[in-house]
Amino acid sequence: MRIDHDKLIVKPGSKVRLKNFDPKYTGGYRSRAEAEVDLTKDIARLAKYQDILYAQNDYAMLVIFQAMDAAGKDGCIKHVMSGVNPQGCQVYSFKAPSSKELDHDYLWRNMCALPERGNIGIFNRSYYEETLVVRVHPGILEGQQLPAATRKGNLWERRFEQIRNFEKYLVDNGIVVVKFFLNVSKEEQKARFLERIRNPEKNWKFSANDVKERQHWAEYMSAYEEMLSATSTKDSKWYVLPADEKWFARAAAADVIAHELKKLGLRYPKLRKDQQGALAEAERTLLAEK
Ligand code: ATP
Ligand code: MG
Repeated sequence: MRIDHDKLIVKPGSKVRLKNFDPKYTGGYRSRAEAEVDLTKDIARLAKYQDILYAQNDYAMLVIFQAMDAAGKDGCIKHVMSGVNPQGCQVYSFKAPSSKELDHDYLWRNMCALPERGNIGIFNRSYYEETLVVRVHPGILEGQQLPAATRKGNLWERRFEQIRNFEKYLVDNGIVVVKFFLNVSKEEQKARFLERIRNPEKNWKFSANDVKERQHWAEYMSAYEEMLSATSTKDSKWYVLPADEKWFARAAAADVIAHELKKLGLRYPKLRKDQQGALAEAERTLLAEK
């Protein structure tokens, strides 16, 4: 195995220091080409498992992607999900909340976007922003209409607890939660921004605001560290995916998702005796057609 999941998982209860997670790590791969061979195999495995997930219609899977800008979330989602049937897959990108969304509690819009049974749902950003961008920019919290009594004490610890409870609720109801933090380095982010500025085909991806956000890098990293430490649980672990080499992050994400689907022991539904009888009857009717 060229991807050792233990190197990526945030152990429940551990205190994360991101300096101990190397964004340039590429597992046992010596080249991009090697990783792409495995990615192709994993995409095929994923398609097979998704077919059974859809047929069985019991479990759902929620895959969360969190990262700093330009870490490669979009490309990762595009590549990893390239083989799956669009009918059984839904992607939702969370932006700054609208005024209607702000009239609700912060989990509301996430609840509405959860995958149906049988589906894989991707959250491109998620309720975790409520402990990241909202923490780094206290002004956003001011706009959340929270009653004073709910803001006393350590609001972030309470949000972590609410999120742990929410994810426990999801898992207890058959919605598997897989969480990825794409760990890009500050210098690689700079190189990608420069590429977006200099390459006309990438200009559309550039946002001046992303460069402003970068000035809060250290605050974001400490918010991520606390969030990862507090919300990696036995049932819903965080995977920190080294993201300086996009090909490694993609291969690792596909490998983890395929592994998590495999663990479910999915099976095509077996027909009951009476349903088998109906099938045989239908076959006879078809064969008897003139
Ligand atoms: P891209 O790679 O295309 O830039 P993106 O996910 O960064 O994708 P944007 O439209 O650039 O998409 O940014 C979405 C913005 O919305 C981010 O800055 C994010 O922090 C912000 N956002 C997401 N959820 C929340 C939230 N709950 N509260 C406040 N801001 C949020
Ligand atoms: Mg952006």
